[in-house]
Amino acid sequence: MKMRLFIIKSDPLLKKNILIAFSIILICTVQNVAYSQESDTLHIAKDSTDVFFEKITLDGNVAYKNEKTNEVISESEYHILCAPVMEVSFKVKEEHDHIDDYWRSDKINPYRDVKINVPFQIKFDQTTFTHPVDDDIVITSRFGRRRRGAHRGLDIDLVTGDFVRSVLPGKVRFVGYSKGHGKTVVVRHSNDVETVYAHLSAYTVRTNDSIPEGQIVGFGGNTGNSRGSHLHLEVRFKGICIHPEYVFNFDGSKTIRGENLWVSNSWKSPKMHSSYRKSKIVPLFSEEDAIASQDAEPRQHKVRKGDTLYQIALKYSLRVKEICSMNNISQNSILSIGQIIQIR
Ligand SMILES: [Zn+2]
Repeated sequence: MKMRLFIIKSDPLLKKNILIAFSIILICTVQNVAYSQESDTLHIAKDSTDVFFEKITLDGNVAYKNEKTNEVISESEYHILCAPVMEVSFKVKEEHDHIDDYWRSDKINPYRDVKINVPFQIKFDQTTFTHPVDDDIVITSRFGRRRRGAHRGLDIDLVTGDFVRSVLPGKVRFVGYSKGHGKTVVVRHSNDVETVYAHLSAYTVRTNDSIPEGQIVGFGGNTGNSRGSHLHLEVRFKGICIHPEYVFNFDGSKTIRGENLWVSNSWKSPKMHSSYRKSKIVPLFSEEDAIASQDAEPRQHKVRKGDTLYQIALKYSLRVKEICSMNNISQNSILSIGQIIQIR
């Protein structure tokens, strides 16, 4: 830390030196990770340079432009991204044989043909998790509806090159690029929950790596269908996306909301939430509660005096367009008192 402050203070080229300091911190941190686990094997991730950058000159300095996203990064940042990253491979006890069911390394979701009944239970054998980014969590978009359709993950702000860590121990199932998610790592955990880390700029793990909680799985970025660098984090159970905040408490406590959590319809349905607002979260700890909660979710709205489509949409966290399509009506329809509007 002393070294970091000294460098920044002694040189007027502040930005450059922050980057140098960052590389020193990066090297130190990676080495700490590596050497704190003496008995484990170390290997170099050779594919971490698999980023499509073009060398350009910007204000007289060498810079690199991402050929896909047009994002420009400095030379130092480029070298950080391309530096070989030491990773730690852990030998996890093979106590969860079923972890290999539907194990495919070529698909983000290998469960497309699997039918899951709702509500369903997810069990955790730990009560806390590790934040996926090292800075304070700044959520920029939540699980829910948004202008361009459903958002099935949680967007967390970061700077390209920031570490992205696995929230739980597990086994890396997928490392690859997809059009929407960009560079993505999927980690399967022993309870069949998977966490998805998307829009990365580089990977630091490989398929089939068994990793501890907090393992750096890649660097944050802006790849795929992303506007500005951020982490898109998904929590899935057998292919079904679950509201990440229903499972993980991002209030700073780093707690998992329950060791036996029941997921009801609303916690897997983006349309029941707004990506712009925090949903009220009441964890369900039994099947009875989960069924009761599902039954209590309103399915219809009876039009009362003064109701407008806009007010109804607001009340049920829906968009006017969604109500119209569910009810086969147009946005200009005149509502009559007593009319039944489907809202699910
Ligand atoms: Zn997202």
